[in-house]
Amino acid sequence: MYDTTLALPARGESTEAPHRRTDALRELAGRITGSLVLPSDHGWDDARRAWNLAVDQRPAAVAVPETTADVVAIVRTAIRLGMRVAAQTTGHNAGPLAHQSLRDTILVRFSAMREVRIDAERRRARVEAGAVWGDVVAPAAEAGLAALAGSSADVGVAGYVLGGGLSWLARAKGLAANHVLAFEVVTASGDVETVDAAHHADLFWALRGGGGDFAIVTAIHVRLFSITSVQAGTMLWPAEQVETVLSAWRSWVDTAPDEITSVGRILHLPPLPDLPPHLAGRSFVAIEAVSLFDADLTAALLAPLRALRPEIDTIHETPMTDLHLLHMDPPGPVPGLGDGMLLTTVDADDLAGIVEAVGVGSGTALLSFELRHLGGALSPDRAPADGGAVRAFDAEFAMYAVGIAPTPDAQAAVRASVARVMSALAPRRAAQSYINFVESARTADTLWDDGLERLRAVKREYDPTGLVRSNHPVD
Ligand SMILES: Cc1cc2nc3c(=O)[nH]c(=O)nc-3n(C[C@H](O)[C@H](O)[C@H](O)COP(=O)(O)OP(=O)(O)OC[C@H]3O[C@@H](n4cnc5c(N)ncnc54)[C@H](O)[C@@H]3O)c2cc1C
Repeated sequence: MYDTTLALPARGESTEAPHRRTDALRELAGRITGSLVLPSDHGWDDARRAWNLAVDQRPAAVAVPETTADVVAIVRTAIRLGMRVAAQTTGHNAGPLAHQSLRDTILVRFSAMREVRIDAERRRARVEAGAVWGDVVAPAAEAGLAALAGSSADVGVAGYVLGGGLSWLARAKGLAANHVLAFEVVTASGDVETVDAAHHADLFWALRGGGGDFAIVTAIHVRLFSITSVQAGTMLWPAEQVETVLSAWRSWVDTAPDEITSVGRILHLPPLPDLPPHLAGRSFVAIEAVSLFDADLTAALLAPLRALRPEIDTIHETPMTDLHLLHMDPPGPVPGLGDGMLLTTVDADDLAGIVEAVGVGSGTALLSFELRHLGGALSPDRAPADGGAVRAFDAEFAMYAVGIAPTPDAQAAVRASVARVMSALAPRRAAQSYINFVESARTADTLWDDGLERLRAVKREYDPTGLVRSNHPVD
């Protein structure tokens, strides 16, 4: 479980005696169409469990709304009781939230609000706050459209988009947050509002990359794209070839057009029976690529990498509905411990440091270390000026390192391995962070650079009492 000894002090201690608070929460449970579970209730541990099974989150209550009216009732009850609310779609990034004291917090889990409506004509979708990307990608594909989904089908649309959203089409289309058309929210005063460029423009700005610290989102309107398939897949080499392959990829990305988004990766796969025998228990260096070009042009562009003769090469025409398989993310909840940062660049010395920290013989406890290539439409000079709080990345790569950590010993080993590779890359750390890849509790000034004061001003305006609690608070 995550170390909670660093728990932050609660900002909003309840003004109610405990039994009166319990009575009021039970009364709320009877009033909403969804459900509300208290620690003494049967099913409490299931209710509070995050997608990341290594996280031990202990809120005062877990509410599962079914309607916006439920969310309003929950927020207004929290206001009356002097409590706080924290929204959670899946708990993929629950780690930093659990570092905070949640004893006065109602955790609002959106698993019962997953409706997705596709407007094929206008190429957009209205997505309820509990939807995961798999809920959107399939109906969008039926309409011949693609969403800027992340690598995993069960990541929540809300948390992903609120933090920025780095998709397989990121270098061509930019951050998913830049393609949000509107949010439907319940504010910290319990009011229902539509937030877009013309209404609550400051809040609209903050919600696009500033995270979930400003309001409770009940639905998101996102832009879709006329794409039905891409050339996509992975090239895998034995990990002993890591230096050759990663340095070839590092040079190659400088020439890659924006239509190709790629990831360089080191994988140490556990000897699990459900992995294919040619993968189980082995270590690989991998290059994953998604191309918007046709098969011939993609093959021509990838030729320098293929010349290194990968042992496995799965690049082929891939329907958008299969793209979630590419990154080999876990299909369901796992106990993971990971962290990441943006890197201004990566050179030959940095690659040597990565290999020393994560390569064969390093003794690393990591399952995966990855570098996602940024640039293209993610660059500050290309991103829309009216994008959100995170409209671009002033960095060439995003790194993320993760290991499976079901026990305290495994957690200590993975934590040390993550720290080792992050320290090797510390000189390349960008001033900006990408909060979706940050799974440790960090202070706000290490997460945002020049946008932080504006984010704090929006927080003061829309949530002056600090009712809304998020995994990455801005103050
Ligand atoms: C296996 C895996 C694959 C991933 N792949 C990618 C990827 O390809 N690209 C990428 O960019 N990121 C990726 N991520 C990171 C992911 O985007 C973040 O973990 C993100 O926070 C997950 O969103 P969630 O809603 O599922 O998580 P949650 O932990 O449920 O939410 C995270 C935070 O978002 C806010 N939030 C969530 N719902 C609401 C709401 N309704 N109202 C207000 N605030 C809300 C809250 O502050 C919450 O603490 C991946 C993570 C994992 C573990």
